[in-house]
Amino acid sequence: MHIERIAVDESVGRTMPPGLFAEALSGHGVPVERVGDDEEFGPGDAVATFGHRDAFVDADWVHCVRAGYDEFPVADYEDAGTALTNSTGVHGTTVGETVVGYMLTLARRLHAYRDAQRDREWDLPRYKEPFTLDGERVCVVGLGTLGRGVVDRAAALGMEVVGVRRSGDPAENVSTVFTPDRLHEAVADARFVVLAMPLTEETAGMVAAPAFEAMREDAYLVNVARGPVVDEADLVAALDAGDIAGAALDVFAEEPLPAESPLWGFDEVLVTPHASAATGRYHEDIAALVGENVEKIAAGEPLTNRVA
Ligand code: NAD
Repeated sequence: MHIERIAVDESVGRTMPPGLFAEALSGHGVPVERVGDDEEFGPGDAVATFGHRDAFVDADWVHCVRAGYDEFPVADYEDAGTALTNSTGVHGTTVGETVVGYMLTLARRLHAYRDAQRDREWDLPRYKEPFTLDGERVCVVGLGTLGRGVVDRAAALGMEVVGVRRSGDPAENVSTVFTPDRLHEAVADARFVVLAMPLTEETAGMVAAPAFEAMREDAYLVNVARGPVVDEADLVAALDAGDIAGAALDVFAEEPLPAESPLWGFDEVLVTPHASAATGRYHEDIAALVGENVEKIAAGEPLTNRVA
């Protein structure tokens, strides 16, 4: 493969300013060009993009500026011999900090104070409501980049961490590792259940009514993975019934979350707009990843984060 231009698709604007990203990508000896949604591609082209377009498979290499590439038709890329890479590896700190923020907010009741502040109310919590993360158990499902970012920070706060991973192999700072078939056992004693796995055929709808029944009534669900890993109707039912205490949700079955969704209305649900990985230096992080692969192509080495 020989890369003659890096095309920055305008769709990257959904996560960062395309101009800043294009600028950060320069300096690898390959021309960088911003392109619109009618651009055609051919041999020698690399494309950096947020989402998929059929024209991309005519390029030599396509880089998805997100970790989750569930919306890409991977088989089409494989059939065309087009390399597809994703951006896993860069969200451990951003999402890890956000998840710690959710947990601290819910445990220390900061969301309730902020809600009361809007009404200029000096509203003390009920005596039993506030708790500390120290000593509480968190179950992290998926121990990749996001999962590790959560595990290490939760452990540093004195939480007991259990995890779910397909291999079941031990992991640092995780006291017990369960395989996915034991999900309900894994979540049973946790105060927080954090979803950090990719959306796949196996994980779609993985967290539904039986998982909520297995969870503690004072437990919170945190979803920073992808909306469809959770059955949203079952989640709403579990929240209504008091089967779980609340949730912190960054991702949803439909985004933006429709105005009529009941999830907006729960006091104990934090809704964030798919922004847990947001940072003002995203363009630098992703440009570094793309730049590393530009160098690898020049050196004839295998690409980092290749998924097709
Ligand atoms: P990653 O590839 O580093 O880690 C994912 C981990 O999940 C892997 O270790 C994988 O083996 C594991 N996994 C796969 N199937 C599983 C299953 N059935 N049960 C348990 N574990 C399973 O990816 P990452 O960078 O950690 O990102 C994970 C996902 O989080 C992405 O695919 C994306 O959908 C989502 N994500 C969301 C945001 C956000 O802004 N909310 C940001 C980054 C990533």
